[in-house]
Amino acid sequence: MSIYGYLNCHDCCQTLWLGKALNHGHSPSACFHIGTENDLPHWARTQLNQVLWKFLAEHTGHGIDVRLEHEMTDEMWGYREIGGDTDEGISFEAYLAGWPGLAAGGSLPEAEPGAAPDTAI
Ligand SMILES: [Zn+2]
Repeated sequence: MSIYGYLNCHDCCQTLWLGKALNHGHSPSACFHIGTENDLPHWARTQLNQVLWKFLAEHTGHGIDVRLEHEMTDEMWGYREIGGDTDEGISFEAYLAGWPGLAAGGSLPEAEPGAAPDTAI
């Protein structure tokens, strides 16, 4: 059975779906993963990195936390969800549309030796 994780901003009533909590012997979780076991880890997927950084920037100074699904309250289930599968939520693509952070800084560096290839979801 999969247990999902959520990054919440309680000031803005928004939640970012983090995917399945994988504990690999750690408690409560070692990492989160969206997709199958064959999909690259989150850090190797550009869109997932961008979504997380946008969420952190937008909610600077706000009350944020990470919770597993059984730790979510009824109120939190009513937050606007980013990346989930509800009709009331917003897709990762729509969330990133027009975000100035996509153009901040220099261009992408060449991949370092041993780095995982970058792919879209
Ligand atoms: Zn916020």
